Amino acid sequence: MLDAVIVGAGFAGMYMLHKLRALGLTARVFEAGTGVGGTWYWNRYPGARCDVESMDYSYSFSDELQQEWRWTERYAAQPEILKYANHVADRFDLRRDIQLETRVTRAVFDETTSRWDVETDRGDRVSARFCVMATGCLSDAQVPDFEGLDSFEGTWYHTGRWPHQGVDFTGRRVGVIGTGSSAIQSIPIIAKQARHLYVFQRTPNYSMPAQNAPLDAEYERRVKAAYADFRRQARESRVGFVTERSGDSALAVPAAEREREYEKRWSRGGLGFSAAYADLLMSKDANDTAADFFRAKIRAIVRDPAVADLLCPTSYPLGTKRLCVDTGYYATFNLDNVTLVDVRKQPIEVITPKGVRTGGVEYAVDDLVFATGFDAMTGALLNIDIRGRGGRRLDAEWAGGPRTYLGLTVEGFPNLFLITGPGSPSVLSNMIVSIEQHVDWIADCMSHLRARDLATIEATLEAQEAWVQHVNEVGHMTLYPLAPSWYMGANIPGKPRVFMPYIGGVGVYRQKCDEVAAKDYEGFALR
Ligand code: FAD
Ligand code: NAP
Repeated sequence: MLDAVIVGAGFAGMYMLHKLRALGLTARVFEAGTGVGGTWYWNRYPGARCDVESMDYSYSFSDELQQEWRWTERYAAQPEILKYANHVADRFDLRRDIQLETRVTRAVFDETTSRWDVETDRGDRVSARFCVMATGCLSDAQVPDFEGLDSFEGTWYHTGRWPHQGVDFTGRRVGVIGTGSSAIQSIPIIAKQARHLYVFQRTPNYSMPAQNAPLDAEYERRVKAAYADFRRQARESRVGFVTERSGDSALAVPAAEREREYEKRWSRGGLGFSAAYADLLMSKDANDTAADFFRAKIRAIVRDPAVADLLCPTSYPLGTKRLCVDTGYYATFNLDNVTLVDVRKQPIEVITPKGVRTGGVEYAVDDLVFATGFDAMTGALLNIDIRGRGGRRLDAEWAGGPRTYLGLTVEGFPNLFLITGPGSPSVLSNMIVSIEQHVDWIADCMSHLRARDLATIEATLEAQEAWVQHVNEVGHMTLYPLAPSWYMGANIPGKPRVFMPYIGGVGVYRQKCDEVAAKDYEGFALR
């Protein structure tokens, strides 16, 4: 009889397991992959690396771990992050409670026992008091339903399901479909190998240079000397890492000064750009100044004005789709062996045996790369048949979009916890900071139940409705809902359009969660 089942062995599931063991609780982790690491296990495409700096994008729960681990680059590449995940699994002896190659298919709350009955595709049937979904916000890879894909005679890949042995594109004609973060990281590298690369772009993205480099030893020394304080500041920040944040309006400063500020941030590289002015994500006029700066940069890098034009985003404000971070992306379109194909005006009609047809033209390719993203935030959860009290189904409850209390729990589903669920800062933050905050909160909650000899915790409908309304209200105070992004569910045909993450900020949100706990779990029914 387990205390907890944890679904997923990425950074969330691994830390949850470690934390529960420390409480003396028994837990089993089920993971669909053949190894740990989640995102960094699956996304092995060329160029995959983090876009939050490694000194930030790492666990803080163990000082020994953060002191002994050495990152080699400012932004670590996928193999190094995967090595880190495996190191954590070994260092904290996690593997003995992780069952790999096992997908959880069903989780049903039994009201007579107040326990979760969990089933897997390998025939496991386990009962646990708590069920923790560490299934990942970006783990349900999506290949669009293109007609003819079955007939394609070449090989096709999805960036989020990349072959472990790697792929050598040398001398081949390659098509990449999509121009989001995954495409933007992989395109410059694939272009160097391929005989010819066709990039099929539906919507151009705003991408910042990473300015990646070997990790500066002096910087590493300084951070490690004061790591506790560095982490505290990250937890209290808006996005889970510290970045120079201005309180000014972009419209209140002279154009030349604004330009200097944007230039400074461009040279520094990375995601801090949107913090240049307080209203960049609140006012369209303010945002336009930054978007103009980006478009001018693209035009300065890309030699063919028609190609530059196509690469310039114009249909949504900067930052309202996830800002991308690249190494040499725009310059790749100056190469003779790279062709940008606009599939906005003329969508992909069909995948033929030999390639891709759009606008009546067939582009012959040997390999196709789908960099087409994920059913984000809800996909992996709703792939599981989750049933709460009275047989209520999560997919039915969420038919109009996800509804949670604090992004952690769902009314009608006692003792079920979501790590970085919809309605929490999650994907708008340094995810490891948000993961650690959720895991710590969930563990404290379980301790509280044990200390008070309580069987279940469940969000009240009233608290959930108020939270959903708050999440919506603050989301709609920003420019985010103007973009047809995966934050809005817009990348999946038929998915309800709801702004899913909570934009109130990591620090503010943490405070709110702590207050709820301090007020004897306000908004929850404890039984
Ligand atoms: P995941 O790492 O997604 O792990 C979830 C695991 O659950 C997966 O291994 C999956 O196989 C498993 N699973 C799902 N459903 C089931 C089931 N039914 N049964 C069994 N197992 C299941 N975030 C940042 O903050 N900074 C970055 O730089 C950054 N870069 C990213 C780069 C890429 C290419 C992608 C795709 C995402 C990136 N992210 C980044 C987001 C990233 O997903 C998180 O940072 C973090 O790794 C999520 O950890 P997790 O454990 O919550 O989820
Ligand atoms: P994504 O941002 O959702 O991008 C998917 C791309 O595929 C978009 O360009 C989309 O075009 C295109 N697309 C989808 N369906 C299409 C169709 N039918 N026809 C033509 N084009 C189609 O996915 P992603 O690039 O994998 O990134 C997802 C998220 O993961 C990121 O936003 C980020 O949070 C994280 N990530 C981070 C990094 C990093 O730098 N560390 C790297 C990769 C991923 P439209 O825009 O028109 O829909």
